[in-house]
Amino acid sequence: MEAPVLAVRHLSKRYSASQPPALHRVDLEVARGELVALLGPSGCGKTTLLRLLAGFEVPDEGEVAVAGTVVATPERQLPPEARRLGVVFQDYALFPHLSVLHNVAFGLRALPRRQRRARVEEVLALVGLQDFGHRYPHQLSGGQQQRVALARALAPEPEVLLLDEPFSNLDAALREETRGEVRRILKASGASALLVTHDQEEAMTFAERLAIMRQGRLEQMGAPEAVYRAPRNAFVASFLGATNLLQGIAEGSVAHTPVGPLELSRPAQGPVLLSLRPECLQFCARGAPVRVLSRAFKGHDLTYTCQLVGAQEPCVLTVHTGPVCPLREGDVGYVATAAEAVVLEA
Ligand code: ADP
Ligand code: MG
Repeated sequence: MEAPVLAVRHLSKRYSASQPPALHRVDLEVARGELVALLGPSGCGKTTLLRLLAGFEVPDEGEVAVAGTVVATPERQLPPEARRLGVVFQDYALFPHLSVLHNVAFGLRALPRRQRRARVEEVLALVGLQDFGHRYPHQLSGGQQQRVALARALAPEPEVLLLDEPFSNLDAALREETRGEVRRILKASGASALLVTHDQEEAMTFAERLAIMRQGRLEQMGAPEAVYRAPRNAFVASFLGATNLLQGIAEGSVAHTPVGPLELSRPAQGPVLLSLRPECLQFCARGAPVRVLSRAFKGHDLTYTCQLVGAQEPCVLTVHTGPVCPLREGDVGYVATAAEAVVLEA
């Protein structure tokens, strides 16, 4: 089997002795041609990981290998330009005084002139900017600037592209469009990429595999649908989409919970914490009685917040339904489950 294009082993980084580590023993691999998203809340260590990979910081522990070559350990680091990695930052970091052509040619100084020219034209065509070579960054829209930054990073044919929140400076509509376009360009060129984001929708739609981080640690890796369907713990369940966390007492494949008996994703015994997605609850003629606290119409669906009636402890449930449901604030309805509850790690 081919070595992963990027292998991170046991990587740790602490900025100061009085602070917890920014990164704690992170293991992560990117296969050739794979798009991976590193997802986590602000401050969880995503940029730190990228800076260690790119060679702007030195690890305290662990190593980084690119296409089978070790590029960083605590004792020995290759300089950033020798790592065969491309980096795209949030603010694009284009050279304002250089034309698009010269920005893209920047990483190709070692090539003979004619080859350099050909490669610049090739990547500009790839990002759809072949007619913009003589413009300057300030003469381009935000989305176009981001595509120039992408072309510049791709030009030297890096083994892996590192993208740090590359769409966050774009407004919502342009962000979705640019994200789709960048994804198409990366797949078309066979690039391998690690995208850093705090936006769950961006991570899920962009990546073939997610790596979810919290407080410097990797919590779970997997395909977006697999992680969404089987989150390992309460943090992952709540961070990747909305969920209902319920306490229960398990007896094999069923748990007794405030909303009644629930089928479990795996057998368990005794006290358990369960995750039940809002779309796995539905209003029915029979079920657990709830009072509607709020109703949010979102066009294609509805989100209800409800309070379980007659529960010993207050229990609030979120329920997603289709776009048509007559229940209003203050009404009483009955909820039933339409799927297994996921048993979370304690
Ligand atoms: P993210 O990119 O996920 O928002 P960062 O990697 O930027 O997170 O930061 C992780 C943690 O490390 C934060 O607590 C942050 O304050 C701290 N940190 C980041 N860079 C430095 C630095 N240069 N010096 C000291 N602390 C830092
Ligand atoms: Mg960051």
